[in-house]
Amino acid sequence: MDFKELADLIFPDVKEISYYEEKYPKRNLPEGAYVTRFAPSPTGFIHIGGLFGSVIDRKLAKQTGGVFMLRIEDTDQKREIENGISQIVDSLKDFDIIPDEGMISETEEKGIYGPYKQSARKEIYQAYAKHLIVQGKAYPCFCTPEELEEIRAKQEAAKIRPGYYGVWAKYRNLPTNDAAEKIKNGVPYIIRFKSMGREDRKIKHKDLIKGNIEFPENDQDIVIIKADGLPTYHFAHVVDDHLMGTTCVIRGDEWVSSIPLHLELFRALELVPPKYAHTATIMKDDNGSKRKISKRKDPEAAVSYYHEQGIPAQSVVEYLLNIANSTFEPWRRANPDKSIDEFELQINKMSVSGAVFDMIKLLDVSKTVISKYDAKTIYEKTLEWANRYNKNLADLLSNNEDYALKVLNIERGKAKPRKDIAKWSDVESIIEYMYADRYNKMTEFEFQKINNEDEIKGIIKEYLSNYYDIKDDKEAWFEKIKNLSEKFGYAREVKAFKTNPELYKGHVGDISTVIRVVLTTKHNTPDLYEIMQVLGDEEVKTRLNTFINK
Ligand code: GLU
Repeated sequence: MDFKELADLIFPDVKEISYYEEKYPKRNLPEGAYVTRFAPSPTGFIHIGGLFGSVIDRKLAKQTGGVFMLRIEDTDQKREIENGISQIVDSLKDFDIIPDEGMISETEEKGIYGPYKQSARKEIYQAYAKHLIVQGKAYPCFCTPEELEEIRAKQEAAKIRPGYYGVWAKYRNLPTNDAAEKIKNGVPYIIRFKSMGREDRKIKHKDLIKGNIEFPENDQDIVIIKADGLPTYHFAHVVDDHLMGTTCVIRGDEWVSSIPLHLELFRALELVPPKYAHTATIMKDDNGSKRKISKRKDPEAAVSYYHEQGIPAQSVVEYLLNIANSTFEPWRRANPDKSIDEFELQINKMSVSGAVFDMIKLLDVSKTVISKYDAKTIYEKTLEWANRYNKNLADLLSNNEDYALKVLNIERGKAKPRKDIAKWSDVESIIEYMYADRYNKMTEFEFQKINNEDEIKGIIKEYLSNYYDIKDDKEAWFEKIKNLSEKFGYAREVKAFKTNPELYKGHVGDISTVIRVVLTTKHNTPDLYEIMQVLGDEEVKTRLNTFINK
């Protein structure tokens, strides 16, 4: 029996590969266009590293006039969860990442290179596996788990490299007649690749991020089709990225050691491999030592975390671009209002070693991002978050939308807008004092330099009776606070105090802080004049009086 007959026995019904080669035309794209894909398993969970990859995938495709695909790799059906695909589609959408092709819901997809779900491509993989069998480049392997275990034990005892290769590959050279007989007798089997590689030879490869790398050749006869008829990841990605016209596989560092195998598979199929870019693992600083950010230990490893915390998607994406290219930060500083689509990401400038994920930096980026939103946007985004995660805040905001908008508009829309909100979950504690019933329950007043109660009451009393007038414009308002300062022995100007500190008890800032803390309980707030205008005459007077009479 020849290989062709054996192949027909194994896969009697599959098509010739020429059928698929014609069915999926070469893409007609501008020179240099990137065709990229994010290829997660449908576990419903997206790791921050996966999001990082898809931000890069999407960005490169977009900036070169290429295509970004979402392909679902569900050949390991043990790991699947219900709605695993739609959860991935939705999580990406939360980050404004909408694939040009691929899965768009649990069951729907768009694009002509599909199916984009691997389990629906079974006969395609089998066609390519059959093609290899016909050429003697793949074969059925009948090893039982016990036999594999026996091989492993022998290798271990002899201190030899483990695996299914060379002389250890028991069914590699089984005559086709014997194989056919076993198959006819119903002996279970899988399909293995017949590697021609040698461990003592090296292959060189140029990775778009890591540069030139060198590895021993692959010599393992890896499984390409499993007992359930589905392919392994290695084989599926080769077939898919070929037929889908992927130009650059961007994936995590953990795959780089599979490069020799993947290139060998492409060669065996006589296909041109795509380029590869292996992104550095995102690390976490754990008490001074770096380790991989982990799904088990770090809540921020799951992208759902950012949504739950109310960290805007844009902040996370900008932070990830920061990690991707160190040129992003200066670009953003020089172009504060440009869309990130205008930033040119350079894959060869990406860091080779693992970037440390820095939450403080992310929140800082986020403060800047939010500072550019207008009050209405902040209102809507906070309300949307609060409706899901904080009922009290949702009520506070929706009970009086006009007032909430005024509150959120304090010190906004100016050259230097306020930068105190990093995430929607911050908003409640930041605006709460603007609401009388909340303020009335607050007991901690953060007084600073002036913290003697009698002195404070004296200042407030004087302010209320002889200086305060809600109708004052900002200049008049501040002039009065300066006058008030002078009256109590504080310098009108900070500078005057700094030149002759012995002449004064303090300066105007100490006095305005007293008023600020009495009105808000906080020493650090946005512009006090604006706060008072929004609180309104009656509420300001009530707060000042209540304090005096305490
Ligand atoms: N499904 C693979 C994973 O687990 C995809 C790797 C790739 O992008 O090729 O990440």
